[in-house]
Amino acid sequence: MQTLKPIIEIALIFLPVYWMLRFMQGSIGAGILRGLVLLLVGALIFLAVITKGMALDNIEWLAKGFLVFTPIYIVILFHPELRRALIRIGQKPLVGRLLKSEISAASEIVEAAIVLSKNKIGGLIAIERDVGLGSFIERGIKIEGQVSSELLVTIFWPGTPLHDGAVVIRGSDVIAAGCLFPLTERADFGRPVGTRHRAAIGITEQSDAVCVIVSEETGGISVAVEGQITHDLDRVALRKVIEELTVGTRETEEP
Ligand code: ATP
Ligand code: MG
Repeated sequence: MQTLKPIIEIALIFLPVYWMLRFMQGSIGAGILRGLVLLLVGALIFLAVITKGMALDNIEWLAKGFLVFTPIYIVILFHPELRRALIRIGQKPLVGRLLKSEISAASEIVEAAIVLSKNKIGGLIAIERDVGLGSFIERGIKIEGQVSSELLVTIFWPGTPLHDGAVVIRGSDVIAAGCLFPLTERADFGRPVGTRHRAAIGITEQSDAVCVIVSEETGGISVAVEGQITHDLDRVALRKVIEELTVGTRETEEP
């Protein structure tokens, strides 16, 4: 019975508080309560320090009593956040996760290119590698959404505000659309090359990005890298090129 006593005592204090907070979870009251408890904990820590110096025993006793339960308040108050954090930690190792997200981004890009190609919708997608494309993004529209073929196809859909210009992808995110890339000045291409393809070659001359281009005129899919362009790729070839060039090659990862 003696060993059970503290457990019963803690339960008697803990349960009503827990139920009250569960009841309020998600309400505005819960948000206010969080703020209040945080403030109170802060104030009491402050008080505990001051009262110790001045020997104000009663206040010190109260502050200590309250602070003993701080871990419990934190667990209850930040239950959703802690849960999310634990789920994240519980997932695969960091590197595995990053590679996985890059592989899935690659397959979404391939899927989008195929849809654009079949519908003869023009598209220009630059996949950032080690050299940042920040200065080209500035002139575009920031998006910062997870890559999906649906998002990419929607962006390039004719007549929509973002369809003109290029999309930039960083890791597994579409970070911007409607970007303007520098046009290559070269003329030594086997066939006539319009501005979309020139912009793709241009950006790969100035960075190590990989560009996927879908031609509005022919529906053909091309890839540009290091100032060189390869035309008429099918799904398998495109996927191979993108995965080889982008997955796991970035030296630094954005969080
Ligand atoms: P397509 O085979 O699709 O016709 P193309 O290489 O012949 O391509 P254009 O017909 O001139 O090129 O394509 C024009 C489109 O290319 C523009 O509407 C715009 O979306 C895109 N574009 C043109 N210049 C740039 C640029 N500097 N940066 C990004 N995108 C550009
Ligand atoms: Mg053209």
